[in-house]
Parts: sequence; C-alpha cells; structure tokens
Amino acid sequence: MVGSVVMNGMVLSAMPMGEYDKRLTILTAEHGKISAFAKGARKPNSPLLACTQPFSFGEFTLYAGRTSYTVTSAQIVSYFPGLREELSKVYLGMYFCEFADYFTREGNDEREVLKLLFQSLRALESETFDDRLVRRVFELKLISIEGEAPQVFECTCCGAKEELMYFSLRKDGLLCECCKRAEADVRLLSAAASYAMQYIVSTPPAQLYRFSLKEEVLAELEAVVEKYIQKHVNHEMKTLQVLQEMEFLV
Ligand SMILES: [Zn+2]
Repeated sequence: MVGSVVMNGMVLSAMPMGEYDKRLTILTAEHGKISAFAKGARKPNSPLLACTQPFSFGEFTLYAGRTSYTVTSAQIVSYFPGLREELSKVYLGMYFCEFADYFTREGNDEREVLKLLFQSLRALESETFDDRLVRRVFELKLISIEGEAPQVFECTCCGAKEELMYFSLRKDGLLCECCKRAEADVRLLSAAASYAMQYIVSTPPAQLYRFSLKEEVLAELEAVVEKYIQKHVNHEMKTLQVLQEMEFLV
C-alpha cells in the first residue's frame, strides 16, 4: 500500500544516515517492528529532531513507499524524561529497547511487547521500584510473551501443583520434592520467589509493576532469570556490555 499511514509506537533505535538523515526502528501497535527514514532529522531546526530519539513514544505519520517508510510528522506523548537524569537508567532503557528489537518482527502482533516496554520504562523512571527488579520483570515477561515462559505453575515432570520448591534450568521450570531427586542440577527456590515468577508470567503488562521484593527474594529472582535468559537468548546485547563496562550492574 502506497500513501500516508498513522501508527502508534516507540522509537527503539535511531541510526545516522548520510549527512542529515536517520534510519529509525519503531515498534508499532499496528505493524509490529518497522524501519523508517527520517529525512533531515539531524538538522538543528528540523521538526523531526526531537521525535526521532530513542524512547519517543507516540503517534507517527509515515509515508509508505513501495519498499520503505518515511516519517513525515509525529505527535509524541512521552520521551521518558526521568530516564535521562541517571546514565544507568538511560542505558538500562536502551537495553530494554535492544532486547525488544531482537525479539520482534515486522508484520507480527507485538502490542503486548509495546505495552511491556512502555510500562517498564515508566517503572524505571519512577523512584518506587528497584532498577534490578524492573530489569528482571522485563526480561522474564518479554520471553514469556514470546512463548518461552518457564513452567512455574506445576511440576514440569509430574504436574503436581504443591510444594514446588526447586527450579531446574534443564527442565525449564519448577520441580516438586519427589521429582527433584532425579535431577542433578536444581536450585532451591523460596515460596516468595516462585510466587513472584508466577505473577510476572501471568499478569498483563499494565498491572505488572505493583509489587516489590525483599532483597534476598530479589537476589533469587535475579539468579534464576539470569540463567534462564542466558539459556534462551542466544545473543549478546551490546547495551548490556556497556552497562557491565560502566559497572552499572551489581
Ligand atoms: Zn513432580
């Protein structure tokens, strides 16, 4: 379809192109992840200068050509200004964008990922949540939306729903006391940590950021999600390396 289209979404990344232009990756509600050119967006007086930054969330008017989109204007609802007050939050937000970019596709229904990204950046901006918690909630929820959730509601071996006290990375989920005996590598998990995982996997993005965890439970969640992501995401995120180099990650 050639002509003008309106899409709601968020800029995941912006790459300089030529002398004055940008190539954007936008996660949209209507068409999944798209690429779009923003002509002249790097000129100081360009009306597209502000709206073509990463984290710009709003309504984009695009010209759909035969092979590519071009941004003609944008109405931005949020730039997430709170993130810019701390460099570690900026990079963590960029990590979320890179993670979302890696998992999403053009033409797919990615509305849940867009909602998750929006809510996670809001949570990162607010002082209410520990950034470490926001990161793990985002990672576990995104991988769950993409169909790779761990089994946290019943024993992955026998289906028992009681006394699920162990997490097995090999089995991608929880094990009961009985089935755990046959598994060599399991991790004891507190009831609070498995409840947190159940909550994250099953709750829609809009209601996700409504809890906090004690330090020891957060540490358990971090350890399990870290290993789970390593196993299921076969890709090195550039922004995660930057976060590590800058020693923003504990
Ligand atoms: Zn079992």
